[in-house]
Amino acid sequence: PRVRLRAGPVVTPTLADKAAVVTGAASGIGRATVLAFAHAGTRVVAADVDAAGGEATAAAARATGADVTFVACDVRSGADVDALVAHAVTRFGRLDCAVNNAGVEGLLAPIGDCPEAAAAQVLDVNLMGVWRCLHAELPRMAAQGGGAIVNTASVAGLVGAGGLAPYVASKHGVVGLTKAAALEYAAHGVRVNAICPGVIQTPMVDRLAAASPGIVEALLAVKPMGRLGTPEEVAAAIVWLCSDAASFTTGHALTVDGGYVVP
Ligand code: NAD
Repeated sequence: PRVRLRAGPVVTPTLADKAAVVTGAASGIGRATVLAFAHAGTRVVAADVDAAGGEATAAAARATGADVTFVACDVRSGADVDALVAHAVTRFGRLDCAVNNAGVEGLLAPIGDCPEAAAAQVLDVNLMGVWRCLHAELPRMAAQGGGAIVNTASVAGLVGAGGLAPYVASKHGVVGLTKAAALEYAAHGVRVNAICPGVIQTPMVDRLAAASPGIVEALLAVKPMGRLGTPEEVAAAIVWLCSDAASFTTGHALTVDGGYVVP
């Protein structure tokens, strides 16, 4: 017998009535994510250690007409992260979406040449920073009956990269945290996913290029698409993962990398 396919109910992936927090919002991928949310009508609290950059992001986002404010937050501080989430909940009455994106690249050096303190710093921001955010966000979202979280990992959370061992370790850790959190909170209606960008044109990559001339060209030579990605291309995927259109996707590490880690 022939199977007749019938269209199901139309699902509108609305973000217009949602409330979000984004860390690392002053620059690059975080800034593009705040702007993408704002264009979708999402209310956002943008957070960063860089107050001038964060205020500039919020001002640009408000130009869309969206409700976007800046809060200073260092993800190395549990008190700062708790205050960020409390601020968003007080302001919006709930927290639907969280993008735990703040990150640093650290020293470009082999392990033997990298001081312990420099490695610990990268892990504190990139791995423990995401943990602190999850620790504050998950119970709040569970209590209200659901939510969606995206942690910014990297292709360096899926494959190795010489010279950036603490960064690679931190991003593999972010993918692991994402999987564990997704399993723990699925029954509470909270989805937790990771985004794994390839080499994206942001100030972070500008700093790596300055530290090691030729590194970007070498990376692009082995990238199938042969170009850098844009922060907007990553933001589009983050916003999709936060939307109801991704309602059955959790625990996933989504690459936005021009084919860099195609198996
Ligand atoms: P970026 O340097 O442009 O932005 C990072 C932001 O994080 C900055 O605004 C910075 O002030 C903020 N930040 C740093 N430490 C912080 C802290 N302790 N507390 C709060 N905010 C802090 O870099 P980006 O490329 O936009 O990076 C964003 C995320 O994307 C990072 O997690 C990064 O590791 C990841 N990523 C970037 C690339 C890339 O190629 N650019 C690739 C994969 C993953």
